[in-house]
Amino acid sequence: MPFLDKMLAYNHSWADQVIRDTPDFFKSISQTQSPETLWIGCSDARVGPDKLAGLPIGSVFVHRNVANIFATNDLNSLAVLEYAIDELKIPNIIVCGHYDCGGIHAALEHSGVQPVDLWLDQVRFVYNRHASELKKLPPKERSDRLAELNVEAQVHNICRNTIVREAWKRGQHVSVIGLIFDIHDGHLKQLGLEFRSQKEWEACYGESFSD
Ligand SMILES: [Zn+2]
Repeated sequence: MPFLDKMLAYNHSWADQVIRDTPDFFKSISQTQSPETLWIGCSDARVGPDKLAGLPIGSVFVHRNVANIFATNDLNSLAVLEYAIDELKIPNIIVCGHYDCGGIHAALEHSGVQPVDLWLDQVRFVYNRHASELKKLPPKERSDRLAELNVEAQVHNICRNTIVREAWKRGQHVSVIGLIFDIHDGHLKQLGLEFRSQKEWEACYGESFSD
């Protein structure tokens, strides 16, 4: 069966099954969305958040790109964050990286001027900041550790962003969390990165948000 026919057949059978299980499901989700989580993850086909975190339809607002980067100069990322916090009032922001990430491997292996190379410069900045630790590791551990450090860097970018800082300042509940997905056993792993307020962030990094 051609690809599109197969996909549409699957879609129709899925929609029929959902209606059999919950007759009002589509009526209910067509009214509005009130997701609990903004998920910033890698575009890798193996790490879709709904499946690996068991999140139901309507509960997760998703932003994905190569190597799960929250770039402070990327209008796309900023628009997603602003909409998630200011309009949807989403309380949880998860940055999820993963081991054996092609983007991380590419950042370690070469650089260049193609769009993906330029995008991955942001991972190379993370590598350079931690080069003394990373150089001591064998290749597999180095790439997995860089995936973790990259998550931390993106959590850092989000916590420092004005959109989050303003939300914290007005008392809005926003948790910024960093996770890594282990593609070898299917488990999500915590990285000790969870910040629920300006105070928590400052206490961990010794930074001040004073304007
Ligand atoms: Zn990846």
